[in-house]
Amino acid sequence: MQVGFYGHVRQYHNIKAEIDANIAKVLESGEYVHGPMNKQFEKEFAAFSGTKYAIPCGNGTDAIWLTLMALGIGEGDEVITNANTFFATAEAIWIAGATAVLIDCDPQTKCIDPAKIEAAITRKTRAIIPVHLYGQCADMPAIKKIADKYKLWVIEDNAQAIDAAGDTFKIGELSDAVATSFIIQKNLGCFGDGGAIVTNNEQVNKVTRLLRAHGSPARNVHSFGFNSRLDDIQAGVLSAKLKHIHAWNDNRIKWAARYTAGLKSAKSFDLPYAKPGYRHVWHLYVIETKDASKRDAFLKFLNDNGVDAKTHYSIAIHQQAGYPWGKGARTVGSLTNAEKNSASCISLPMFPELTADEVDFVVAKCLEWDKKQ
Ligand SMILES: *Cc1c(COP(=O)(O)O)cnc(C)c1O
Repeated sequence: MQVGFYGHVRQYHNIKAEIDANIAKVLESGEYVHGPMNKQFEKEFAAFSGTKYAIPCGNGTDAIWLTLMALGIGEGDEVITNANTFFATAEAIWIAGATAVLIDCDPQTKCIDPAKIEAAITRKTRAIIPVHLYGQCADMPAIKKIADKYKLWVIEDNAQAIDAAGDTFKIGELSDAVATSFIIQKNLGCFGDGGAIVTNNEQVNKVTRLLRAHGSPARNVHSFGFNSRLDDIQAGVLSAKLKHIHAWNDNRIKWAARYTAGLKSAKSFDLPYAKPGYRHVWHLYVIETKDASKRDAFLKFLNDNGVDAKTHYSIAIHQQAGYPWGKGARTVGSLTNAEKNSASCISLPMFPELTADEVDFVVAKCLEWDKKQ
């Protein structure tokens, strides 16, 4: 058996009629950029998110820096986030002209550790970007409390956790804006690049809309801006898929539970932690080898034995030699948990269209490795 890491084509086949119909509708309309399908998806996505506004844009990275710029954050400002995230979180801060201040994660959830935030706050700090890593919400009530005390903006990086929720809070409720990515491998993915900002903040809504389209409030009128648009074919794909995202995430939850039940006897690696009461939507199911020096061999064993496992992310941001250090970023405190995660993580195949047989095959291969340790 061969178990892949993604189920994009299976997903397409499952709802082919709905996707094809929406794409045909766009093609027949002759309006391919910011046309009626874009408006339709914008409305649907705001309603889904429970926010006043949704602002589709080119990708998830743009969604973050467009929001930072709309809030006036840039040169000379600092933005706090965790060191163990996809590179784009820090990159977006740097693109906006600000400095990313990288701190450690919680050892269990891998999301930003709220207890480490205050030590990183300076006169220059303007915002916190919690990342809902792997599909699980960061501790937003604790983050919001600190943000209120120091009057900081909070922008949720929700590229990985569409339709997730906390125990007492929803995404978007305890922040100023939420940035999302729709690149194909995310839980809600289009057939290319895409992203969106959702917000209740009037300034974020008004200014990101201007910035994403050449700073143009009306034909031939321009101020400072960029080009970051979601095209209408992608909006049509997303509109079709949005109706299914909750059920698809329920499938991910089911497969995560099956992995956890099957793997709980393993001695050589730890299983991912799901906070009680949270809706964790399992963008990734990430195990950690207890002995970091065994990670690469375990990964190779899985890959050689029919399991397309990967790592997220084997180089933390502060370990990236190519990052613009100094102006671009600095670290605060020890980053032990982030470093342990980058050295020992392995992501098992996780997508809604997996089958029970495939999950059981992956479990069997992991246990086969574990027995030899
Ligand atoms: C994917 C991702 C992004 C960036 O999204 P793009 O659409 O690729 O620009 C940002 N942050 C996190 C945590 C991500 O996983």
